[in-house]
Amino acid sequence: MRKFGAYPIVVNYNLHTRLRYQHKENDFHRAGRYDEERQLDIKVNTSSDSTIENNLYKQELNEYEQTVCNCLRKIEGNLVGLMVLGLINKKTTVRIVPKSDEELKRCTCALTGPLKYDIQKDGSVARGVGLGDTVILFHPELGDDTLLHELVHAYRYSYNKFHPLNVYYRTEYASYTVTSEEVLAHQIENMYMSQAKRPVTLDYVSQAPAEKKEIYDFLADNYFLLQSLKYFLRHEYLAMLAAHTFTTTDYNPFRDYVALEAEYLEGAVSPTVPELGTPLLPTK
Ligand SMILES: [Zn+2]
Repeated sequence: MRKFGAYPIVVNYNLHTRLRYQHKENDFHRAGRYDEERQLDIKVNTSSDSTIENNLYKQELNEYEQTVCNCLRKIEGNLVGLMVLGLINKKTTVRIVPKSDEELKRCTCALTGPLKYDIQKDGSVARGVGLGDTVILFHPELGDDTLLHELVHAYRYSYNKFHPLNVYYRTEYASYTVTSEEVLAHQIENMYMSQAKRPVTLDYVSQAPAEKKEIYDFLADNYFLLQSLKYFLRHEYLAMLAAHTFTTTDYNPFRDYVALEAEYLEGAVSPTVPELGTPLLPTK
């Protein structure tokens, strides 16, 4: 288990501990013993593999924790990344824990959720609701850009601001419904990439490589994405700060929001774009 710099981040290799207790967690769940399931899950995520069997997994533990720390150092070396790291609530702890190679094959994704998640009354296995300390399930192969994305989620949870609203959008090929939290994380991720002069992507789901101009046109063409940007500019300190700080970063839709809205309004009936979640007024 190692702490990363002065940030409230701990990298914790607990793969074997987690796999060992997996069936027990599942048993608790099936039996409807949700409190015990969560208690065990918290124990698993705060325990290190270094404590089992005379540190049998020492080598893979060191390898994982070192690689993730290198990843975090890369994020720290990027001004957008540095801002995200610095904003995470220091009264909380973010734990980065390993995803196994097999799990990565099943889903090339990372996952962030609260350590003490809210138990769902309907017996659902969903663990995404809650606040405070967080756990990021991460495989190093996913890269620093994915980790940065997850840290945006962790930051929002750390201040009890992770409140997903549905956002609908369409690309040239398909339409999608995602959450506002994914919209924010994707935009910050794109800014992070742009700051490093690495390729940016069109949207959260398709992850299609695109030029800034193409993405801006796409944003200006999608009412709910514009509404999301506006919502975050008004309520999310990270978005406001990013808009004013990264003046020379090529891709920065928060800084360029006014121009995006103007582009949308050119052909629109409505004289303005409300922020996301604004109820529609009845038409007279
Ligand atoms: Zn995400």
